[in-house]
Amino acid sequence: MNYVCKESVYVKEVRQLLKDLKIKYRFNWKSKTSYALPRDSFIHVGGKESTLENFLSTVFHEIAHIFNFRDKKYFIYHNVSRKSVEGKKFKDNFSKVALKAERYTDKKACKLMKEYYPHVKFIPSYRSKEEVELIRRKCVG
Ligand SMILES: [Zn+2]
Repeated sequence: MNYVCKESVYVKEVRQLLKDLKIKYRFNWKSKTSYALPRDSFIHVGGKESTLENFLSTVFHEIAHIFNFRDKKYFIYHNVSRKSVEGKKFKDNFSKVALKAERYTDKKACKLMKEYYPHVKFIPSYRSKEEVELIRRKCVG
């Protein structure tokens, strides 16, 4: 398996893109966890054992969350910062719309990624039963 490395030209390009979009980010090459905190305009992308397709798809998925917040799409779901994410109100709202909001985000992410990287295959999130179950039970982004 060919994993993306942090010196990759794609990673460099994506850093510039995030800067242009005024999105703060952290790429963590030792983690597999990714999430967005739209209210803070921040994304965390775990790049451990990530192929280029996985890495770019994840980055664009998290960018799409930020855009959804800015466009007020699924607003309650996206109105999240580090402070609000633990609150009960958030968790209740979260489970109700999570799957719909995530699929909407994937659609947007796919479109967006095609504009920048038409030759790279977009890999959607939340495809398997396990992933869907995960999102119903707890906070994943
Ligand atoms: Zn998501």
